[in-house]
Amino acid sequence: MPADMYDCIIIGTGPAGLGASFQLLKIKPDIRILLLDKQTISTGGLRNDCKMNFTYPIGFPEDLWDKKTADEYLNSTKQYLKPRIMSKANIRTYMTRAEKLGVRLIKIEQAHLGTDKGKKLINKLISELKEKGADVALKEEALQIDEQKRILKTNKRTLKFQYVIIAPGRGGFRFLQSLMDNLNISYVDNLIDIGIRIETRLQFYPIVEDYYDPKFIFPNRVRTFCTNSKRAYVVKEKYTTKYGKPYYSVNGHAFSEEKKENGLVNFAMLKTVHLTQPLASGQEFAEILGLQAALLGGGKPIMQRVGDFRLGKRSNTDSFTDNDLYNFEPSLKNCSPGDISLAIPARILRAIWRSMKMLDTIIPGILHPSTIMYYPEIKLYANKPEFIDDNFQVKQDIYMIGDGAGTSRGITAAWASGIRAANGIMQK
Ligand SMILES: Cc1cc2nc3c(=O)[nH]c(=O)nc-3n(C[C@H](O)[C@H](O)[C@H](O)COP(=O)(O)OP(=O)(O)OC[C@H]3O[C@@H](n4cnc5c(N)ncnc54)[C@H](O)[C@@H]3O)c2cc1C
Repeated sequence: MPADMYDCIIIGTGPAGLGASFQLLKIKPDIRILLLDKQTISTGGLRNDCKMNFTYPIGFPEDLWDKKTADEYLNSTKQYLKPRIMSKANIRTYMTRAEKLGVRLIKIEQAHLGTDKGKKLINKLISELKEKGADVALKEEALQIDEQKRILKTNKRTLKFQYVIIAPGRGGFRFLQSLMDNLNISYVDNLIDIGIRIETRLQFYPIVEDYYDPKFIFPNRVRTFCTNSKRAYVVKEKYTTKYGKPYYSVNGHAFSEEKKENGLVNFAMLKTVHLTQPLASGQEFAEILGLQAALLGGGKPIMQRVGDFRLGKRSNTDSFTDNDLYNFEPSLKNCSPGDISLAIPARILRAIWRSMKMLDTIIPGILHPSTIMYYPEIKLYANKPEFIDDNFQVKQDIYMIGDGAGTSRGITAAWASGIRAANGIMQK
């Protein structure tokens, strides 16, 4: 076989791409595969925090996965990722309190590695793939696919493939959209999550001692998401609109127990927005909200203390230097004190604030005046393509998987999607 010809090319070394690669090599050890990534190391959740959830439906879009299928794939995923499931305590107490308010606390199996250990895991997995015979090309960006000629153009060369699995994650949103436009694949992009990230002292959200990443589901499609604690930091991610304008979304992660504690907790409160008639692009709506926040925040995300928010006034520098009530510093420094209520659409803010009050009733403390609310946290769901089979095939021998294509919303489901696409190829 010529050097530039592969049985399967996998674009993206996130969990979706890795899951697919391991499964292809497991079923057919002599298969010739190439993994491509435009970065030097995978950039998604494996690299950032690496919390792994092993209970359906967390991370699994329910229109593509039923419980039975997801459970089967989660079992296979576990064999690759070998998680150390964390214990939980006092769950019944929290559940009873939540139920009284019409809130659900979902009990799930979780493992947490931490950002530092996530990096080691990725390097180990990549080495294993190379030992099994896979070619891995980092810092190489996939650009275009010619479906008829079965050619993939990258920023470095032209490659031929029998099958291609495209798993570029949420960051590859625009790349995926351009591929789907070129390949004439229909897709929908009408779902987004918009919300805030809360940061507080551990003592005001002690549930994390009992349950690392508690999943509360509130009315009005609001939920807690991605809780980090003890060595936890809020971070900002930069995005660019299609017109080249920058905007930001906050996020959070934590280091492993090998690092020093900072005594903080952060988590997102997200509201899912489902755009219907007249149908608009979720991506474009999110971009407008991101730009508005960046405008009001002077080119940065906005942060506000709960104490200021409750009094209906903006936070200013004093709100972050006062060492009486407001006595912890934000872990994200590059952020502007301001008024989140000026930037968040009213319906979204009302739903989130109501949910925060419910959460404060279940676990008293979160509404302490010092708690910080960062805005915006934006999760673009995906450009969900129209699949032509159950294994995420979008065109003959072309597969799209992972968070970018909407087959997952988390590490484990992304990995499971990879296995499912690989099985689809191997069934051929
Ligand atoms: C800061 C942060 C923290 C997160 N924490 C968690 C967590 O703790 N737990 C959890 O379950 N989920 C977490 N997530 C979500 C998680 O990232 C995703 O669910 C998961 O990584 C999706 O996997 P994926 O393989 O689809 O995409 P990704 O993991 O995003 O991987 C896609 C890869 O494709 C590469 N790529 C993109 N375009 C191209 C191209 N054109 N050519 C070549 N390569 C390309 C990217 O560089 C990237 O490495 C987090 C996300 C972020 C951003």
